[in-house]
Amino acid sequence: MSEIRRKIGIMGGTFDPIHIGHLVTAEAVRIEYSLDKVIFIPAANPPHKQELQVTPAIHRYIMTIMATYSNPYFYVSDIELARPGLSYTIDTVSHLVNQFGAQTDFYFITGADAIQDLPTWEKVDQLLEMCHFIAATRPGCISTLDNVIKHFGLQGRRRIHRLATPELEISSTDIRERVKTGRSIKYIVPESVESYIFKEGLYR
Ligand code: NAP
Repeated sequence: MSEIRRKIGIMGGTFDPIHIGHLVTAEAVRIEYSLDKVIFIPAANPPHKQELQVTPAIHRYIMTIMATYSNPYFYVSDIELARPGLSYTIDTVSHLVNQFGAQTDFYFITGADAIQDLPTWEKVDQLLEMCHFIAATRPGCISTLDNVIKHFGLQGRRRIHRLATPELEISSTDIRERVKTGRSIKYIVPESVESYIFKEGLYR
């Protein structure tokens, strides 16, 4: 009897804040790769953002729960919030491999800009053994993804995939700037996230 494999998407990001572009990307990957579910994992303490001011993880986590709640295939995990120290993806994926077992294929979904830096990530060769990477590309973004794929040779061609996402015209940076300068963020974040941002006074 052939083994039935499970397919799980891991949506990794800082989500500061989560927006419609992230949600459309996750849903598109879910359908394209026939994923059983997508787990959103807000990065608690991103290793590449030590010099930058990032909103406290608890706010980003709550907004991610609010934004994903209505999709029955979407889940949110606090594993990076619960783990002390820097949020390395290798630790997160190892945790999920232990949790879900060997009959599961993992797809780590994130922005192409982040994946361009993959060669510098902690234990990246081990990581590529453990999961596929789906790089969501923004319109007009001249991606150097091909160089990254080449860098990893056969493993890169097998494991790194791209997905064009027109909705990623939206960016978290733009949303933070809009709030700061009093411009509308209506319809580019879910209504619940918009209310949360104003109630908590984020990004002023
Ligand atoms: P980032 O540098 O803030 O984002 C890079 C680009 O990707 C931005 O344009 C961003 O747009 C977009 N993006 C981020 N997450 C996305 C998603 N899930 N779907 C679509 N686009 C996305 O990257 P980041 O968000 O901090 O990190 C991305 C993931 O890579 C996180 O899970 C992080 O932990 C992981 N990472 C791990 C290591 C490591 O283990 N050493 C190093 C770097 C990153 P928005 O700003 O609009 O989201």
